[in-house]
Amino acid sequence: MKLQITCPTCGTAGELEVPDDAWNKVQGNIIMGRVVPGKVCEHGFKVEFSRSGLVLGYHAFDAPDVEERIRPVEFTVQTVIRNLGVEVAAALLTAGISEETVVLIGSLAVTIGIRSFMECVLPDSIDVGALIYMVTKEEYETLPESTKQHMTVDLSSKIITNPSFDEDQLAWMRKVLLQANMVTNKEAAETLILKETSKLRTTVSLLRHLASRRAAGLEGKKKKEDAS
Ligand SMILES: [Zn+2]
Repeated sequence: MKLQITCPTCGTAGELEVPDDAWNKVQGNIIMGRVVPGKVCEHGFKVEFSRSGLVLGYHAFDAPDVEERIRPVEFTVQTVIRNLGVEVAAALLTAGISEETVVLIGSLAVTIGIRSFMECVLPDSIDVGALIYMVTKEEYETLPESTKQHMTVDLSSKIITNPSFDEDQLAWMRKVLLQANMVTNKEAAETLILKETSKLRTTVSLLRHLASRRAAGLEGKKKKEDAS
């Protein structure tokens, strides 16, 4: 497999040849390749890519003050669906709409990419940053049990645990994503998702409001009965 790559420091384009048996040695769906200085340009960097040959992020080693700089590749509807699948993408956005905490397990470049994608397509009223824990596999093991109770998505195996969504919301999200995936213009695809998620969010808030009023009504009725 030949990957088209771009140096994250100077922007020089180049190619990275990946041997066919590279995937035999790894579990999961992401490989980190190393580009030595002199291969593409004077800089050395690492590149993360998926089984389908999509470049997911770059790690540059040139920064004088820090050991490593992460340069995530921009995630679009198409790249998210191609790499995570529509099920995972729909689950992430449904969690965002319902303001459910999500634990993302993956490398920093990928988790940052996913988070910024969610920030782009979900309504501004949702604080995506506050809902997401971004951890590596090793960090996940050290999380308190209470945090592990939340919805967890392993981005390399695509395994989702603890989803407790309304099936209708999830089905809606899936449909919206598939529609957006057909739109080749990135902005138009994001606008479509934003429009639909705003609609869905309004429905969710309305249902919650009605449910709480109903609960309050039942509570009031019970008090009255207790008093008499
Ligand atoms: Zn360079």
